[in-house]
Amino acid sequence: MGGTEQDYIKEAFNGNWIAPLGPNVSGFEADIEIYLGNNTYVAALSSGTAAIHLGLILLGVKRDDEVLCQSFTFSASANPIVYLGAIPVFVDSEPDSWNLCPNALEHAIKSRIAAGKKPKAIIAVHLYGMPYKVREITQLSIKYNIPVLEDSAEALGSSYNGRPCGTFGDIGVLSFNGNKIITTSAGGALIANSKSLRDKAVYLSTQARDDAPHYQHSEIGYNYRMSNICAGIGRGQMIVLEKHVALRRAVNTFYKDIFRNVNGVSVSAEFDSTCHSNFWLTTIIIEGNNGGGKDAEGLRVALLNDNIESRPLWKPMHLQPAFKDCLYYGGSVSEDLFKRGLCLPSGSNLTDDDKKRIYAAISTYFN
Ligand SMILES: *Cc1c(COP(=O)(O)O)cnc(C)c1O
Repeated sequence: MGGTEQDYIKEAFNGNWIAPLGPNVSGFEADIEIYLGNNTYVAALSSGTAAIHLGLILLGVKRDDEVLCQSFTFSASANPIVYLGAIPVFVDSEPDSWNLCPNALEHAIKSRIAAGKKPKAIIAVHLYGMPYKVREITQLSIKYNIPVLEDSAEALGSSYNGRPCGTFGDIGVLSFNGNKIITTSAGGALIANSKSLRDKAVYLSTQARDDAPHYQHSEIGYNYRMSNICAGIGRGQMIVLEKHVALRRAVNTFYKDIFRNVNGVSVSAEFDSTCHSNFWLTTIIIEGNNGGGKDAEGLRVALLNDNIESRPLWKPMHLQPAFKDCLYYGGSVSEDLFKRGLCLPSGSNLTDDDKKRIYAAISTYFN
């Protein structure tokens, strides 16, 4: 926490705005719109998953439609496809950004069109805060006229060509879950490029109530609006967002320095000068053939023995039992990353003592 969050919560109590609407909700939305710029319109929602669900509805996804989705991601990117009775089709990553592979994506699009099932949307993810190949993916979206839902849940504070992540898709999504770069305890946002689209998201998130004195509903709605209390936390967190990004980037540099002299280990890095990552998490890849039998699982267990938690990378969706019947396009890039990678402790609140302990545990393992 940054320190001012409780002031906004106190304001909510003083004004008796204990509801999924109020000054903090409007204020938090305005703060995000100013931060993102580029004519964005923001709807604050109860979670990032809710934002993806409403985003797919706004893009016209219906029962039995196919939706292309990056396989290397957290399951929340794909679950809302299934909520709608639509069908996920998973696509592999490319090795630079670890995100959606443009070649595999184009192959998938052509193949599904040839099968008479033109995909309704593309879900592209900025995983671990690293921007996906925005130029290539946007070009394919335009070429085949398929909208992009940009899952920027992990990438608030990242940018590509100087433009903030979350502003590239036909619809963008943010998450403020407890583990993200800033948090509202639970929460998310839908980012639209028009006021009417944003207002439609708010309407759907508040039970799709028509404009009438009584309760009148022409459509099925959802209870997905953000609470005014949570939004108060968000207002305080926006003040420290840039600080959190700087701290996470410093953590990435800390690990780069540690692993500079360790053979066969590469630390996640920006793939070119156009991309700026918030380094939500710093991740490493350990080559299988670096001798001495060192591998990601060995390091994970060694760290755990020193009471330091690290985690494997996201297990690709096409390897998940819940999605075992889904189509998959691509090779083994994401599967290989999953086998060899590890997420290292990356919190904005790592202390110097924490860093000393981590450094010692890693050095011991590799020497
Ligand atoms: C966290 C996350 C989500 C979901 O956000 P919630 O607010 O937890 O529902 C979606 N996609 C990715 C990539 C995420 O990391």
